[in-house]
Amino acid sequence: MAKITCEVVNCAYNKSRKCLKSMIDVEGPFARYRDDTSCESFIEGELPSFNYEFAESEGSGLRDTEVACNVASCVFMERGKCIAEKIKIIGRNAKESHETDCETFHCR
Ligand code: SF4
Ligand code: SF4
Repeated sequence: MAKITCEVVNCAYNKSRKCLKSMIDVEGPFARYRDDTSCESFIEGELPSFNYEFAESEGSGLRDTEVACNVASCVFMERGKCIAEKIKIIGRNAKESHETDCETFHCR
């Protein structure tokens, strides 16, 4: 599981540039450049009240977020998962998920 640094500070899951979600989806099946990738788990602003999915569990602190990824052209994608030790998601002031990118993307 990758450790995530996330610059998308207006995402509901972002806390001090960490991602609180237990699993994110990074997408961009035909990506050639990092702009072609995005964090599809982005939600602007406050979390909807029905969403309980957090990586932080009581008393145990933050766990690493699992990264599901369909960016087949990235060297770090293996069988639908990201195998990089660390990734960085960027996209300050994003309003929609396509305005976010995986900065760690590296084309095969
Ligand atoms: S944009 Fe993605 S990685 Fe960043 S905090 Fe939101 S869900 Fe997590
Ligand atoms: S580094 Fe590559 S495999 Fe990992 S999330 Fe980013 S695009 Fe997907």
